[in-house]
Amino acid sequence: ITTIGVMTSGGDSPGMNAAIRAVARACAYYNVKCIGFYRGYQGMIEGDYCMMNARSVRNIISQGGTILKSARSKDFRTPEGRKKAADNLKEIGVDAMVLIGGDGTFRGGQIFSEEYDIPVIGVPGTIDNDIAGTNFTIGYDTALNTVIEAIDKIRDTASSHDRLFFIEVMGRDAGFIALNTGVGAGAEEILIPEEDLGLDRLLESLKRSKRSGKSSSIVVVSEGDKIGKNVYELADYVTENLPDYEVKVTVLGHMQRGGSPSCFDRTLASRLCVKAVELLLDGEKNIMVGIINNEIAATSFDTGLKEDHGINKELLRISDILST
Ligand code: ATP
Repeated sequence: ITTIGVMTSGGDSPGMNAAIRAVARACAYYNVKCIGFYRGYQGMIEGDYCMMNARSVRNIISQGGTILKSARSKDFRTPEGRKKAADNLKEIGVDAMVLIGGDGTFRGGQIFSEEYDIPVIGVPGTIDNDIAGTNFTIGYDTALNTVIEAIDKIRDTASSHDRLFFIEVMGRDAGFIALNTGVGAGAEEILIPEEDLGLDRLLESLKRSKRSGKSSSIVVVSEGDKIGKNVYELADYVTENLPDYEVKVTVLGHMQRGGSPSCFDRTLASRLCVKAVELLLDGEKNIMVGIINNEIAATSFDTGLKEDHGINKELLRISDILST
């Protein structure tokens, strides 16, 4: 292997730049050429790339977003699109790819690696933490801290006005962000897709907290939660059934994806990407790297894409006890 390509794909996450930097620097260290593709798979299809060296990634470790940009590529879902990408890689002389992204990126990488003999290694970069082959994905820790800061601020106004706030957080079909920030911010209830609380239990819990003397409450709702059709309808339902509560909704939205990455995410990105380059140079291919029990672990894409992401439901019990 003399040339390694790198790209970032899917939803962006804080720490993707630290990951790109680690790939470029590891390539420089091992005397391998590094090429960065813009906008994920779309840049591979369009041949939109730049040469990278150790200096082209200076000062990016602390920046959110991704200097290589990210995108969702419809074309890569088609055999023609993937062929174009493979032809381009061969023409440019890219021998292997590091794919930084979430589960969709890994799915694309897996299909691509079955069709073409171009080694790929996936690095989990998503705020959702919904990859089974790792305890943590790059960007998740930063997103948790961003969300906690926002909820703390909402709590100030909730308590001043005796309000009940439903706060929707990201996470796609996984409840990691909701569950952990719910416990960390001391929420009254946490609604996640992995556990159906049921509307009756939610109302009961809110009534109980009112009886126990609480005048304001925070409910953290994961965007993938199935209990209400959406967070606004959920709030309407509660308003109808608990008229003495003043209910408000805050959807945190894309601010959760931005900001300077935490030290944890920078270190995680650095460790995983150095390992990804080393594994490619050792002849490994078509796997993902993750961190399991603080050890770097290489697993198959199938393992990484398992439905059960290993969410810790014990935290729901902790939350129940602590919101007494
Ligand atoms: P996040 O979960 O953080 O949004 P992601 O990587 O899951 O990140 P997706 O948009 O789901 O984001 O996937 C990224 C890209 O991977 C898609 O835009 C598409 O180009 C490619 N991809 C996803 N699934 C497939 C598939 N089944 N076949 C081919 N390519 C795919």
